[in-house]
Amino acid sequence: MRPPFAAESFRHALLGWYDIARRDLPWRAKPGERADPYRVWLSEIMLQQTTVKAVVPYFEAFTRRWPTVDALAAATRDEVLAAWAGLGYYSRARNLHACAQVLAGGGFPADEEGLRALPGVGAYTSAAIAAIAFDRPAAVVDGNVERVLARVFAVETPLPAAKPELRKLAAGLTPASRPGDYAQAMMDLGAGICSPRSPSCLVCPVRTFCAATATGEAERFPLRAAKAARPTRRGEAFVIVRGGCILLRRRGDKGLLGGMMEVPTSEWVDAAQADASVSGVGAPARVAWRKARIVQHTFTHFHLELRVFAADADADASAAAAFSGEWAPLDKLAAFALPAIMKKAVASGLEALGLSPPSQGGSRR
Ligand code: SF4
Repeated sequence: MRPPFAAESFRHALLGWYDIARRDLPWRAKPGERADPYRVWLSEIMLQQTTVKAVVPYFEAFTRRWPTVDALAAATRDEVLAAWAGLGYYSRARNLHACAQVLAGGGFPADEEGLRALPGVGAYTSAAIAAIAFDRPAAVVDGNVERVLARVFAVETPLPAAKPELRKLAAGLTPASRPGDYAQAMMDLGAGICSPRSPSCLVCPVRTFCAATATGEAERFPLRAAKAARPTRRGEAFVIVRGGCILLRRRGDKGLLGGMMEVPTSEWVDAAQADASVSGVGAPARVAWRKARIVQHTFTHFHLELRVFAADADADASAAAAFSGEWAPLDKLAAFALPAIMKKAVASGLEALGLSPPSQGGSRR
């Protein structure tokens, strides 16, 4: 799609600004250096649905421990899942490990099509790697870029229906020269200056091209279709300790938190259905459960509340017999792939038993 201005002038203004104001990020090559495809790929997978601030410590820990894709491929899946714990959207970690194994010994394909065939690499990520790591003129459109384009072109179609139009507009602006820098410049512009609320139009390098700011309506864009309310699900979680260990089990590979560890839980059901049931219905009745704090977590499509029950299996042997699983030492919990909601449940259960929660890093989501 042709823009109503000279695309070359837009790119020139944007890249001139980027050369001075680019963000210094740990996965970025310095000016004049070649980008490392492994670091670009790893960062792009981590950044899906996750903020730069949350990703930086994970990226640094991963690249210290596994400096190359071959090193990552040699790790076990459990090691990768445990290192990912707290970053959320765990299918990314499973795909990361599977993808590293596909790439081991052969390296990354340089084109979008080859990249797209890799596990966990979708349209956006393949375009980002092709542009940033291999300087291919791929149109890279993430949420930040969508916002910038919706404003520059004052796109009246609401998201998500506007996505194809925004992709065409992005393709019309993407340059053949310095496409990697251009992609990162658009990302930086969206992340900093063209922010969702109160964009800094006065200092924006592309303000003279921007239709939304010309009419003083920058914040009206992008338009969004009304979202359905996020439903609440409820369930119960059971924290059982014995001799300095806690009972854990592994979730099935498919579905939410697939392959991650958890304390035993009941099914998670819609709130209305859960309210009709009796509190503690999933807990074996013979065990002397202590009620602990309810814990909550918001996933993309629903909000979860877990009622936590705790039992000391040294004092009540039937607690240990009630569930099967693996006894994990409390002082080594960081080595287990516990997602954030399970860390919260563990902390709540231990608190109810008068035990201190183990200190663990990385619980951000
Ligand atoms: S002028 Fe304002 S609205 Fe337009 S791209 Fe720049 S920051 Fe965004």
